[in-house]
Amino acid sequence: MKDAIHSYVESLIKKRSPLFIEMEKYAAVHNVPIMELAGIEVLLQLLRMQQPKKILEIGTAIGYSAMRMAEALPDSQIVTIERDDERYDQAIINIAKTDFTNQITVLKGDALDIFKVVKEQGPFDAIFIDAAKGQYMRFFELYTPLLTKNGYVYTDNVLFKGLVVEETIDNKRIRNLVSKIKKYNEWLMNHEDYLTTIIPVGDGLAISRKLS
Ligand code: SAM
Repeated sequence: MKDAIHSYVESLIKKRSPLFIEMEKYAAVHNVPIMELAGIEVLLQLLRMQQPKKILEIGTAIGYSAMRMAEALPDSQIVTIERDDERYDQAIINIAKTDFTNQITVLKGDALDIFKVVKEQGPFDAIFIDAAKGQYMRFFELYTPLLTKNGYVYTDNVLFKGLVVEETIDNKRIRNLVSKIKKYNEWLMNHEDYLTTIIPVGDGLAISRKLS
């Protein structure tokens, strides 16, 4: 989105609680890629409309989005996965400061390795994919069997800072990543079991509705 419009929309967003503001600052200082403000506001609004009882999040980081979802949906349970030890510990510390301890379960491990553990917590009405961008298709294929009828998959970063429309990208690693995201987007948009739309908000949010 154009910078001025983006700043304008962000300026209208209500102030978060002191703990969320502290986490946003921590994320900025320590380079933790938590969801962008406008993006998470849209995700939360969609979730309020959907009212999922159980949400699976792949990519906890420091617990910011899990806690924001818990606050927005007080009747929901959130299971979230993080593979990085330090971020996992920080998420546990942050969640312990709140009343969300009974609402959020943080699982430590690589989402691609701990399916059996996650399955015990399912099924899920919504899955939020916000982890290693190069693995999105694998996360989707592995975890959507745990999605309830007419459930939703939300995928963040599908426009990857606008790089999906860049013609030339010098950095080989980034070029490969962009190529994987573009493949994922095309595959997702054409998936016969899901109806998907992409919103150019935040870093790009894909919303996929399971058709049965
Ligand atoms: N959802 C978080 C938020 O908005 O507050 C941000 C998550 S951040 C973009 C992505 C996180 O996913 C990182 O902390 C990273 O360590 C974790 N991650 C990446 N690949 C993963 C995997 N395969 N399994 C579990 N966690 C993973």
